[in-house]
Amino acid sequence: MEDEGPECGKPDFVLLDQVTMEDFMENLKLRFEKGHIYTYIGEVLVSVNPYQELPLYGPEAIARYQGRELYERPPHLYAVANAAYRAMKQRSRDTCIVISGESGAGKTEASKHITQYMAAVTNPSQRAEVERVKDVLLKSTCVLEAFGNARTNRNHNSSRFGKYMDINFDFKGDPVGGHIHSYLLEKSRVLKQHVGERNFHAFYQVLDSDEKSHHQAVTEAMRVIGFSPEEVASVHRILAAILHLGNIKFVELEEGSLEQRRLAVTDEVLVDHVAELTATPRGMVLRCLLARTVASGGRELIEKGHTAAEASYARDACAKAVYQRLFEWVVDRINRVMEPRDRDPRRDGKDTVIGVLDIYGFEVFPVNSFEQFCINYCNEKLQQLFIQLILKQEQEEYEREGITWQSVEYFNNATIVDLVERPHRGILAVLDEACSTAGPITDRIFLQTLDTHHRHHPHYTSRQLCPTDKTMEFGRDFRIKHYAGDVMYSAEGFIDKNRDSLFQDFKRLLYNSTDPTLRAMWPDGQQDITEVTKRPLTAGTLFKNSMVALVENLASKEPFYVRCIKPNEDKVAAKLDEGHCRHQVAYLGLLENVRVRRAGFASRQPYSRFLLRYKMTCEYTWPNHLLGSDRAAVSALLEQHGLQGDVAFGHSKLFIRSPRTLVTLEQSRACLI
Ligand code: ADP
Ligand code: MG
Repeated sequence: MEDEGPECGKPDFVLLDQVTMEDFMENLKLRFEKGHIYTYIGEVLVSVNPYQELPLYGPEAIARYQGRELYERPPHLYAVANAAYRAMKQRSRDTCIVISGESGAGKTEASKHITQYMAAVTNPSQRAEVERVKDVLLKSTCVLEAFGNARTNRNHNSSRFGKYMDINFDFKGDPVGGHIHSYLLEKSRVLKQHVGERNFHAFYQVLDSDEKSHHQAVTEAMRVIGFSPEEVASVHRILAAILHLGNIKFVELEEGSLEQRRLAVTDEVLVDHVAELTATPRGMVLRCLLARTVASGGRELIEKGHTAAEASYARDACAKAVYQRLFEWVVDRINRVMEPRDRDPRRDGKDTVIGVLDIYGFEVFPVNSFEQFCINYCNEKLQQLFIQLILKQEQEEYEREGITWQSVEYFNNATIVDLVERPHRGILAVLDEACSTAGPITDRIFLQTLDTHHRHHPHYTSRQLCPTDKTMEFGRDFRIKHYAGDVMYSAEGFIDKNRDSLFQDFKRLLYNSTDPTLRAMWPDGQQDITEVTKRPLTAGTLFKNSMVALVENLASKEPFYVRCIKPNEDKVAAKLDEGHCRHQVAYLGLLENVRVRRAGFASRQPYSRFLLRYKMTCEYTWPNHLLGSDRAAVSALLEQHGLQGDVAFGHSKLFIRSPRTLVTLEQSRACLI
């Protein structure tokens, strides 16, 4: 590896003298202090957020990594992006880059650098359509961040949704389209934010003149992507409507008052605003706020007045839903312009794809609710995939290839995934069951059912099951022992958040808007209340389904991993808080990762591929060898270089222990070309 002296620590944790937490942390810290925020574990990239601008990015840096082998240059995101790109281009493999880490660890910034790399190295012939796609890819980030990011205490630009983006490449290796999947937007933020936190950026960018430059940037990005001026105006009106809606308050009227209804809004001007901004009849808006339609008995529809509490609840549900639909519409709108147009007939119309996953990391707050439960479940799923792909697959490959090695113990979290998603008894199934039960069902009863089912589960407990544990409250809290640590959840609100229901009246109201953009967000508002018989899927089940599909998708691709670490809680440069980092290193399973990698080999490749690249460096193999088998030829080549001690010969592949061997081979190759 070039230009990193020994004083900068080891560029790959695999090269550590010993694999202990102390050694790992020492190397991480040393490198961080020298401004080397990236380090490998084999092909996995570990990244520490520097919280300062480092001169690591841009066209010159990109040029240094373009077309190189992973080990030829110091560790970098660009090297991983390049490796994924080359695997895609040279071997026609679908690949994916999975970026993980806790909030503020640098995932989103990493995904942006990766996209920028892909945009920089493609389309040398400047095809107009490819340029357009690249523009949309790059500009989509700005728009998605406006609608999906917010200032939180942990990160001033925190993504409040999970994002998986596919980039489609044609046979020339140029981007010709893409698709974004979003996961679980934190819509409750529309109504309430913790002290010191803010609502989604979009609200300020529309209303606050301080954010004018952002406002212009977002509007410009929307224009480039292809949002029409009318659509942009609708989006602004919808945002304003949500804010007015959120401010509406209710009073219950005295009995015997002349009003037909028992409830009124305190400030009717707000209703005027909402009606105007959503292009819906004022009377209808008011009616939806104060009452709901129910089908009584047969098919007869009656109006049932809300109590003040019910009305507030319905108002909040509506505000959240309108924002969620707006967000999903924005994502859809971007997807529509990124849909690949000219499919390559040589691959049965299939493009090759690189996926980039930037999804929320493990979360533990003082109070953890349904959202944290979903997010942490997502991380269990991704950890499962990581174990399967990196650890298990690696071990299995050695066995298959007949290579001797020592087995490495690692914690398999399958049992926790099972606790959450198992049919009938898993936490999500029990929750769904509770949600579909008629009559008064409470979070407390839901918790009792969980206790019954999981009394003996090693990763589940509650106050009921462990009465001496006073950190939990009876009938409210339960605790899951996640692979990343223990998290106590409050069952309060689980049923409600899982049901995630919105009265049909609101849906119909918005579907009947004369604003075509808003109307398009509410296709299900067409249905009449009497037709709405089928219970919609719950939020938990929808999330589970999307996670299962995501993991399946990732598993079908060749994975690259970026593991992000947040150096301190204060968001400051040049400070690495050891305790904080240790915890992350532990739960990301990085030590196990190094052990497996070391028990093993830095690189492995089929003999034929190895020869193709290096045969020119040896007289016995250039231009063709006469040695009977590729394996024998590889052996002769390595012997000539004096490298035979650092490898093992598998049945079909060569296994190379240290990256240095690869570097030596690369160098002798470079001398010849
Ligand atoms: P995450 O997506 O993991 O929550 P972000 O990617 O949003 O975290 O990073 C949080 C903040 O940290 C960014 O807004 C930026 O200020 C800083 N940051 C992250 N990565 C880098 C980097 N490579 N160089 C400089 N600053 C960074
Ligand atoms: Mg983020």
